[in-house]
Amino acid sequence: MTVREIRKNPFTREWIIFSEIRQERPDREKAHCPLCTGSEEVPTFTRPLRISNKYPSLLKENGLKHHKLGNFFEKINGYGYCELVVYTDEHNAKFSEMSSETLMKIFETWMNATKQLSSDQSIKYILPFENYGEDVGATLLHPHGQIYAFPFLPNRIRQEVNSILEYKEEKKQCMVCDYIVSEKEKDERIVYQDESIVALIPYFASHAYDIHIYPSRHISFLHQCTRSEMISIINILQSSIKALNAIFEKEVSYSLSLHQGPVNEEGTTAFHLYFKIHTPQRSTISKKLLGAVETGSATYINGTLPETAAAKMRAQIM
Ligand SMILES: [Zn+2]
Ligand SMILES: [Zn+2]
Repeated sequence: MTVREIRKNPFTREWIIFSEIRQERPDREKAHCPLCTGSEEVPTFTRPLRISNKYPSLLKENGLKHHKLGNFFEKINGYGYCELVVYTDEHNAKFSEMSSETLMKIFETWMNATKQLSSDQSIKYILPFENYGEDVGATLLHPHGQIYAFPFLPNRIRQEVNSILEYKEEKKQCMVCDYIVSEKEKDERIVYQDESIVALIPYFASHAYDIHIYPSRHISFLHQCTRSEMISIINILQSSIKALNAIFEKEVSYSLSLHQGPVNEEGTTAFHLYFKIHTPQRSTISKKLLGAVETGSATYINGTLPETAAAKMRAQIM
């Protein structure tokens, strides 16, 4: 039997997803790619395609049920959505090399999914993302991303939303809009900027090359971006991945995620959209592994200043 449930840590107030089915995932696709056209999951292909994850951590079943027993045992059933987005019918294509028309269609798929999944009132946060490469646990080679729809606000997002709401209450401004202006004034961590977007490695980056991409306008959801803003975002997403490959002299593993506002929850329009690219790679030969300081205290030790990393990125992108 598959157990899927979401338990709350009462000490940190984080939600943890338990999904025993994940253990059954195959390590690698075997002879036949399950995402190539003609397969059981993808019989035909005309444009980026959303399909259900075969091994979902969250599943829309029988509605959301909340249980609380005493002070310590709180859980909800593993309600939610886990989808794959098959980007293309070309097995060997890469996100960083696809045409901007293809990427625009992937953006449209993310926008449609956000709209559709947020109509489920139990859903609070929708996360489109891509894991690429073994170091971030990607098990299928075929170009694809995923979408998770959570029935709770993930802890990191909850913290960001709370800070943004407090700042807004106090200063009547968007904290991220103000942060972007301050970073532009400093001009030490900017990787790229044009009239509509800015890419930077934040002052507080927890890993050497955590790249954040923000629209300069206050935008909470991808569908609010203009076409030219999306084209700028697409260009910098692709050139950032290529820059990382050049800096580390190999094809790096990365995760790419789209952070939009919470849905059916406070903070929807206060949130300022950003994309994040993260690589565990920290030098040509080593990766950042999490040790006791990180796992025991959730405090990151970053061996590269964002100013240094941003300068290396700029040298590749200019
Ligand atoms: Zn394939
Ligand atoms: Zn803003």
